Amino acid sequence: MPALVLLGAQWGDEGKGKATDLLGGSVDYVVRYQGGNNAGHTVVVGDQKYALHLLPSGILSPGCTPVIGNGVVVDPAVLLSELSGLNERGVDTSKLLISGNAHLITPYNVTVDKVTERFLGKRKIGTTGRGIGPTYADKINRVGVRVQDLYDESILEQKVEAALEQKNQLLAKVFNRRAIESGRIVEEMLQYAEQIRPYVADTTLILNNAIDEGKVVLFEGGQGTLLDVDHGTYPFVTSSNPTAGGACTGSGVGPTKISRVIGILKAYTTRVGAGPFPTELHDEDGEALRRIGGERGVTTGRDRRCGWFDAPIARYATRVNGLTDFFLTKLDVLTGWERIPVCVAYEIDGKRVEEVPYNQTDFHHAKPVYEMLPGWSEDITKAKTFGDLPKNAQAYVKALEEMSGAPISAIGVGPGRTETIEINSFL
Ligand code: IMP
Repeated sequence: MPALVLLGAQWGDEGKGKATDLLGGSVDYVVRYQGGNNAGHTVVVGDQKYALHLLPSGILSPGCTPVIGNGVVVDPAVLLSELSGLNERGVDTSKLLISGNAHLITPYNVTVDKVTERFLGKRKIGTTGRGIGPTYADKINRVGVRVQDLYDESILEQKVEAALEQKNQLLAKVFNRRAIESGRIVEEMLQYAEQIRPYVADTTLILNNAIDEGKVVLFEGGQGTLLDVDHGTYPFVTSSNPTAGGACTGSGVGPTKISRVIGILKAYTTRVGAGPFPTELHDEDGEALRRIGGERGVTTGRDRRCGWFDAPIARYATRVNGLTDFFLTKLDVLTGWERIPVCVAYEIDGKRVEEVPYNQTDFHHAKPVYEMLPGWSEDITKAKTFGDLPKNAQAYVKALEEMSGAPISAIGVGPGRTETIEINSFL
């Protein structure tokens, strides 16, 4: 089982940090393949809580090499501050590898993200404001700046100038903002260059060699399936591919080398930002899920929108990612409800629809069709095996598994590292 992908099966924030960290001890490489510091992992190690945004969560496991792949967008200031924050807490970060092909988030990308959102007004995406979309736009428009450009000053100058030539027109004429001076950006970027240099490597070569040698490589997706720019609820998505295919393009490892794709699935549903969300709750149950589940963004501090489990979404994630397993998280949050509604299908314009509709307008009109499952009141946080769970919790898990189309191989029953039931080993 040398190469596994671990990704969010819903709208992100499914608890991937816990899952990656659980595996971290036995994996040799943990690779981020898309996104940037818009992600937020909370990892609990002992009594220590770590909030990571850009760095792969494997950075907390000694013996594991964390990798930032070519598909990631890197804000160098954030990278260095996250590294020094960990160093201050005694975490060794020296093994980190960064692809020279990864694109850099520059200050003007962050500015464009913020002013665009303001300009969109009511139609805004609700981005994290970290410059993610504009940086990927520059990449696709072929005016991006890459990590390797930090080491060729004249190339860096040319690229920043080229990017700003267009952007300054936009900033001044459309957004009524002051133009950004390219020399200042180049100077700032060069300040980071030497501190980042020790980490820069040919990550594609290293990862392919590692897989050939039988090492365990874990690809860690940021965000989630429904936030994928191709397969998510466009335009209310992030600007990259968190889905399984992104692991290949974002790392330079071919699909034939990936052996397992694990979807992280929360026992209920949350999302941040705007966009359709059929099972969203606007009542005290939603408030309770938010409070008990601690549903507040690690990156933005925004309250997450909360709702019941949505089985068509889980099936959709199974399909577009080719999932082999699920890791069901936060089951403990549901303790105490007498009956738990689960969305089994949608009603769209008076018709029952079993799957996520491909048409965005239909999805906006989708009303959940609920099935009521019996709840449980016993504390489940100490459960070590599936059999330790109350019968109704077992039935809830089994029902979700049946509806979702892939086996549930692990269950999170509490936030701590050890509060997990492993049913089938991922390795
Ligand atoms: P962006 O990634 O900052 O461009 O934001 C685009 C959309 O993705 C917004 O709805 C964000 O709230 C959402 N988003 C980005 N990163 C995350 C994440 O890690 N978890 C959940 N939602 C996210």
